Amino acid sequence: MTRILPRPTALSQPYWDGSREGSLRLQCCDDCAQFQFYPRVICSHCGGANLTWQSSSGKGQIASFTVVRKGISAAYPAPYIVALVDLEEGPRMMSGLVDVAPDSVKIGDPVEVTFAEWSDTISMPVFRPAREFTGE
Ligand SMILES: [Zn+2]
Repeated sequence: MTRILPRPTALSQPYWDGSREGSLRLQCCDDCAQFQFYPRVICSHCGGANLTWQSSSGKGQIASFTVVRKGISAAYPAPYIVALVDLEEGPRMMSGLVDVAPDSVKIGDPVEVTFAEWSDTISMPVFRPAREFTGE
């Protein structure tokens, strides 16, 4: 069973290239210095059209999460965790949470990005408990 793969566009290709290289890339506005996610053609804060891709710290905190207990197919074995992560740079992104038991996740937990290789071309950004938090 294979997962449903994202289809990069000209707009999102830098994001997926970064993920393959182990970097969570965000667009940053040259006019107002705000970051945004997901990729857009203009800044969601000021409407400016001058956006530059930058590597984020990959660090954030869990804003909310849910535990999915029935996967949609064998390619998505349950239980798994879907989380909203507030990135250090500001944007909130939905992602998977890995390397943690569903019953031990708490809102506010610090997390860091890691990448799940879904295909030869797609590495999916997911999050795990931050190392300094777990002491590993
Ligand atoms: Zn802006």
